[in-house]
Amino acid sequence: MSSEIHEECGVIGVYCNDENANAAHFVYYGLYALQHRGQESAGIAANNKGEMDLRKGLGLAGEVFRTERFDNFPGNIAIGHVRYSTAGDASVRSAQPLAAFCRLGEIALAHNGNLVNAESLRDMLTDEGGIFHTTSDSESILNLICQHGARGIEAGIKNAMSLIKGAYSLVITTADKLIGVRDPYGFHPLCIGKLQNEAGYVLASETCALEALDADFVRDVEPGEIIIINREGLTVIPPSSVCRKKLCVFELVYFARPDSIVDGVSVYDFRRRCGMKLAAQRKIEADVVMAVPDSGIPAAIGYAEASGIPYGEGLIKNKYMGRTFILPVQKMRDDAVRIKLATIKHNIENKRLIIIDDSIVRGTTLRRIVKHLRDAGAKEIHVCSASPEVKFSCYFGIDTPHREKLIAVQKSPEEIREYLEADSVTYLSEESLREVCEQDLYCKACFDGNYPMEVPASL
Ligand code: SF4
Repeated sequence: MSSEIHEECGVIGVYCNDENANAAHFVYYGLYALQHRGQESAGIAANNKGEMDLRKGLGLAGEVFRTERFDNFPGNIAIGHVRYSTAGDASVRSAQPLAAFCRLGEIALAHNGNLVNAESLRDMLTDEGGIFHTTSDSESILNLICQHGARGIEAGIKNAMSLIKGAYSLVITTADKLIGVRDPYGFHPLCIGKLQNEAGYVLASETCALEALDADFVRDVEPGEIIIINREGLTVIPPSSVCRKKLCVFELVYFARPDSIVDGVSVYDFRRRCGMKLAAQRKIEADVVMAVPDSGIPAAIGYAEASGIPYGEGLIKNKYMGRTFILPVQKMRDDAVRIKLATIKHNIENKRLIIIDDSIVRGTTLRRIVKHLRDAGAKEIHVCSASPEVKFSCYFGIDTPHREKLIAVQKSPEEIREYLEADSVTYLSEESLREVCEQDLYCKACFDGNYPMEVPASL
């Protein structure tokens, strides 16, 4: 469920054709649109004619940056990052972008994803005398690009790509270029947009950031591609190895914003179709279909459409509970769900409910929600997950718990129903998910264990 699996990271880069434009300001607004991808830290690196200004801090983009700070944040190229730390520590030092001086000049990089060979790369770089400031695997990528950049940044990136394995969507700035890179599997999204009036280009994790900047969508960066944007415009360096698209299906199930289009697929419509498939899988007698807000809403709407059972609102999310919300007393912490989610008793009392969540990971929050709905007078509660049982951990940048903590690993379907104290529990089947995906272009390893590449044995 939404609060049991954490967002990962969001990246954005802006290149303004006008040398005196303030690219950092654009990046700031883009980070607002990508905030759902990470709330732990935010950072912006702006390149002012070769001089890098890097500012970052812990918290939301709006907490770290204030608009007035942009008056003295010049530079026509800027990159930004919002982070949830899936690898490395959560300190401000590990917040991104990361910057380095090297023979390529000063460069900055922002990374979304996780490397599966981070440890061996770090060992190799350390043996060669490399020095690290953070524990983040992104720093190894920066090191490799610098180390192999004798024949230019493009060669440095290509060489680094031949050594790193795993998930990486990158935005990089040099003195005169904005660069975008997507790994050969395309685990996480990266798209290209164009600012209005030919003012420049944007690279962003999701199309919702383009919308925020009133930029036109150009296309997605394809797996393995390197995109170079400079004064001459946009150049594509095609993949130098065989690529096999394996977009993380969890981007569509939960992470991405419903108004985003990821690799040509509407996130909202994907979730709605999952809900429709769920309804087709099993007929449930009920009075109303409800969602665990927000990510369960499109699936609940789809379920209602396909089943003919009306959609109703029963849980209202408190939008003002920030990331730093701290409950002082244990009892209050246990009851946090009551503060996060209020019930509309009128829609719940004496009703048979179908409650739809995007996924069930640990089940602890969903258990509290079921209790909350019972206390509000629900007659029956049928829980539906708009994705299959999560049985495997992720190695590619999504912070799923250790396998042992996944409820679908610990318990049988009947034990899960008992634990949740629900009247029934239904998961979207793997076959239904396959049908919704239409094409075999997705990593679904946390459901089926088929990792697209060799992974370490530690999780
Ligand atoms: S293992 Fe799961 S969460 Fe990780 S990339 Fe694959 S589908 Fe996404």
